[in-house]
Formats: sequence, C-alpha cells, structure tokens
Amino acid sequence: MRAQVPDQAYDGRSPFPSATRPPAFPAGQAALTATIVVAPFVALAAGVWLAWGTGITLTDLLLATLFYVATGLGVTVGFHRLLTHRSFTARPWLRAALAVAGSMSFQGNVVDWVAVHRRHHAFTDRPGDPHSPYRYGTHLGGQLRGLVHAHLGWLFVDQPTQASRYAPDLLNDPAMVRIARAFPALCAASLLLPFTAGWALSGSLYGGLTAFLWAGLVRVALLQHVTWSVNSLCHMIGDRPHATRRHDRSTDLWPLALLSFGESWHNGHHSQPGCARHGRGPCQIDASAAVIRMLERLRWATDVHWPTDAPSRRVRLPRPPGAGWRGRPR
Ligand SMILES: [Zn+2]
Ligand SMILES: [Zn+2]
Repeated sequence: MRAQVPDQAYDGRSPFPSATRPPAFPAGQAALTATIVVAPFVALAAGVWLAWGTGITLTDLLLATLFYVATGLGVTVGFHRLLTHRSFTARPWLRAALAVAGSMSFQGNVVDWVAVHRRHHAFTDRPGDPHSPYRYGTHLGGQLRGLVHAHLGWLFVDQPTQASRYAPDLLNDPAMVRIARAFPALCAASLLLPFTAGWALSGSLYGGLTAFLWAGLVRVALLQHVTWSVNSLCHMIGDRPHATRRHDRSTDLWPLALLSFGESWHNGHHSQPGCARHGRGPCQIDASAAVIRMLERLRWATDVHWPTDAPSRRVRLPRPPGAGWRGRPR
C-alpha cells in the first residue's frame, strides 16, 4: 500500500494527494467490474420493458423480496456487523451461512469486503479512505465528483487493500477463506437459484427467465446501489447527532433506513463502530439489529455489543498473533 498522509497534514478541505494521480487499473479487471455494475442495470431496463405488457408476477416479487432480504442481511449482519466489526459472536454454522449469503450480493468476496471496510473506518474521509466523497475536495465540483467516486467510481480505481493487514483474522479462518474462494460460484448460484425457483413455481421457462431478471439481476442492482449509497450519501447528506473522529463526516439518513436494514444510521455507526445496533433512537428502525436480537434469544449469537452512552472512537479490529500490533492501521 502507498504511504498515507498523516492525519495532521490533511486540512479537511483539500483533495486527497492520491486523487491527483491517474489510476492504473488492469483492463481485464476493469471490464469485469464494469460488467458486474452495468449488467444488473441492463436487466432493470429489460425487466421494465417485459413488465410493460405482461406485468410482473407475484412469484417474481416474492422471490425478489426473499433474495433481497437474505443477501442484504448477509451483508449487514454478516459481512458488516459480525465479520468486520465483531459486534457479536455467532455459532460457526451461522457465521458461515451469513458469509455465504453476503457473498451472493455481488459486492466482492468476504475477505476483501471486510478489509476494505475496515480501511474505510481507519481513514474515514481523509487520505487513505478507499471511498470518501471528499477525495476531490470540498468545493462544489469536487463534491459532485467525489459523490460519484464514493458511490461506485472507487471500484475502478487501483488502490489495493491488503487483506493480510486489515483482515488477518479472516485469512486465518479456513471457512472464510473457502467461502471467499467460492465467490464466483456463489454469484452464479445467486442468479441460478431464482431462475430455478421461478421455473419450478411457474412451470414455464418464461417464468424462470422473469424470476432471473427480477429476483436475480434487478435485486442485485437494487442492493448494490443501496449499499453504495451508504458509502456515498451517508457521508454527505443527513444529520450528524453523534460525535465521531476528526474529519469523519458520516450521517444518519432516514429515507434509506428500511431498504438498508438500518445501515443508513451511519453516523450512529461511526460513533460506536463495534455496536450491534446502528440506530440509536427508539424510532430509528434497524432491522439488522432486530435480527441480531432474535439470534441472541435463540442463543445462536452471544457476546452482543449493544450501544452504550459513552462514544467509542476505536474500530474493533482483530488482534492477530504477535505482540505490538494494535489493531489500528496507520
Ligand atoms: Zn462510513
Ligand atoms: Zn462499519
């Protein structure tokens, strides 16, 4: 990884030093990323065109909802709150199931996802943050460019995040390594399962194809953009009721709360990253926290970290074997 600019050297307004360097991204990798980003959008257009005359079936809608909820909770409860921040401990089978479900969201393999997100917390909205909307400065043009960068432009910038540095605990977990290696197969399953279910339930190949579009590609597109909106909008628009680290501009954005399963209470999350609940007020609906509460009652989740009054400024990062590593990369 490139040397990072010390916190004190960043004034909170200027473009990040790395923003001035042209990204050098391998063409093949860029094409693959573009396919993953664009294909679901093309499917959305195709889905609307198909639905125009014939309508979307109830089976398509139910399957889309089922897969959206399953893969969405895989990301929020599994990838984010369990594996990145270790806000609770899960039974091994549950940990693996959540990692598999999250992998089916087309957001990268579990190890890389966790590493990138831990890096985001370590360098929030300052040089080193992989997807800060303030990368290009705080003037209007820079903000607009930064919004695009934080949403999905960062996927096309060559800024490798070393998993060995940010996610050594996952690399030491054979189950997680296996699930990370199975990422392409899990993506394929994420599209094949709705197709098969739609075919079986409707009894026609056409029913399988519409389910593939709506519960497969369109569902993937929607969840991708909701997740990416937490990276982009939830660092630009909304309320900041909680204290966070210097330069951290995370916000609470209520319109996204339901679709993001509570992840858009992002200022609450950045103020206490290790907490299992991101929404703080009683009206701040946080479906992921409700699921964790349910798992706790079933005794499938233990050692759950619920919010406290005292803000914690540190991200709960793993302590790998070896003295001296303090779990907060610099
Ligand atoms: Zn954030
Ligand atoms: Zn986080």
